[in-house]
Amino acid sequence: KSPSSSNFIKNIVIEDLEAGRVTEVVTRFPPEPNGYLHIGHAKSICLNFELADEFNGRTNLRFDDTNPLKEDLEFVNAIKEDVRWLGFEWDELHYASEYFGQMYEYAVRLIRKGKAFVCDLTADEIREQRGTLTEPGRNSPYRDRSVEENLDLFERMRKGEFPDGTKTLRAKINMASPNINLRDPVIYRISHAVHHQTGDAWCIYPMYAYAHPIEDAIEGVTHSICTLEFEDQRPFYDWVIEECETPAKPRQYEFNRLNVTNTVMSKRKLKKLVEEQIVDGWDDPRMPTISGMRRKGYTPEAIRAFCRDVGVGKSYGVVDERQLEHFIREDLKLKALRTMAVLRPLKVVITNYPEGETEWLEAENNAENPEMGNRQIPFSREIYIEQDDFMENPPSKYFRLFPGNEVRLKHAYFVKCEEVVKNEAGEVVELRCTYDPETKSGSGFTGRKVKGTIHWVDASNAVPAEFRLYEPLIADEAEDDDEGTFLDHVNPNSLETLQGFVEPGLKDVTGQEKFQFFRHGYFNVDPKVSEPGRPAFNRIVSLKSSFDP
Ligand code: ATP
Ligand code: MG
Ligand code: MG
Repeated sequence: KSPSSSNFIKNIVIEDLEAGRVTEVVTRFPPEPNGYLHIGHAKSICLNFELADEFNGRTNLRFDDTNPLKEDLEFVNAIKEDVRWLGFEWDELHYASEYFGQMYEYAVRLIRKGKAFVCDLTADEIREQRGTLTEPGRNSPYRDRSVEENLDLFERMRKGEFPDGTKTLRAKINMASPNINLRDPVIYRISHAVHHQTGDAWCIYPMYAYAHPIEDAIEGVTHSICTLEFEDQRPFYDWVIEECETPAKPRQYEFNRLNVTNTVMSKRKLKKLVEEQIVDGWDDPRMPTISGMRRKGYTPEAIRAFCRDVGVGKSYGVVDERQLEHFIREDLKLKALRTMAVLRPLKVVITNYPEGETEWLEAENNAENPEMGNRQIPFSREIYIEQDDFMENPPSKYFRLFPGNEVRLKHAYFVKCEEVVKNEAGEVVELRCTYDPETKSGSGFTGRKVKGTIHWVDASNAVPAEFRLYEPLIADEAEDDDEGTFLDHVNPNSLETLQGFVEPGLKDVTGQEKFQFFRHGYFNVDPKVSEPGRPAFNRIVSLKSSFDP
């Protein structure tokens, strides 16, 4: 395993180990199972798992399932699959809901200490009395209830005597605190909801900010790593650890979240795209979800290399999506079989090639990686080329096919365009060419040179295939907080579907095999759209971008 690059959290870990403040590094990845994981989560996963791994520590996967209304088993299962696929194995699997009993006990302890009270204000009233950054909040009229009364009411909340929203349990801290999170935050709410793990055992649920430090403490997490928006919650995190008197004392550290251009990264918005059927599910290749990226053709190696590269810090930034593309190109460059695919076919008849005959030509599988060997590809009288590799009236500097011009067919022969066949509408439907047998690829022919090389597929052996080309789903500046308007930025042309052909060797690809199609880029077999004998390919990325060195 290669050591992760240095970052401020790693430095803290090293100091803590050296000073003996911790003997083992324990981290956790704590998703709420209310959606699928996205590339931002991948950054957090890599950080937590790689950090612990580097110091022989442990990492738990913990479902932060304190909000039953938004959560679902489908998400639990998808999250497990995605973490494993990224290449990480958790030490222990937990659900925050396992600790509801312990959290309740701690809440009772807070009440006994005079540090929590049952409040009858509604959510709106609480919000309204909370004050602002410049104005202190107002004390709840229920703040001075006696310990006995609070204990009694809290127990009755638990027993289900009160309807949703009529009472809360609040920490009693300081309504004048400059940190709004310390103004008597709600720590329990009533919700008569069926929970995916605990069923109807509970009708009160702890709030995230109260539950999280307790979960960390119970699991012995030493470094509780989260994103920067939780920085203002840290004083309350420490308050919970202190006042609940948990045996373990986890500490929270915050890092900058990952943002990527041309996409949205909040589960709430991604869910909207799914629900409005703008995409074909959470794993649509246009989604920035791990499952979408997997289906598009990203590899775990490329995602991990990307996450390492973007680094861990405290500054806000948006990473160019081309950086992500750089890493998948790098990963596939030497691994992917390089073959020919025709996305927009134009038939070419080679008039001087014997009818009914097929020869097999030698083609290297990866010009940059000879270890991948060679394959045989068929060649015969009829082939397909790309429509845009022919122009009837080309501009100067156009070196591909045009009437009278000669080009090289990759791995095959020189061919010369002799005749253009059109349909009634005047569209070019076929070319008639001649070939020169002496120019066979690999024969050492030096008699004359041509300026263009184009790719092709033998027509009689070609496998019909679908090609799915993607563009960003969301225009760049769409990352705003308004759920309604971000849908206005959806690109209506984010998917282009083409019907073409691939080499016969690709007939039965079924898994998520990845290929480089000569001149078109890297493609992945789509596991959902492909049919037996008729594969569909998602373009992962084109061959070059201005971003590459
Ligand atoms: P979202 O806002 O997309 O719904 P979330 O933070 O609510 O994300 P959680 O399930 O709570 O989603 O996230 C689990 C962990 O992943 C948290 O520790 C969170 O801080 C981290 N995380 C979420 N989004 C990002 C991101 N864009 N970059 C880095 N880490 C992230
Ligand atoms: Mg969250
Ligand atoms: Mg969220």
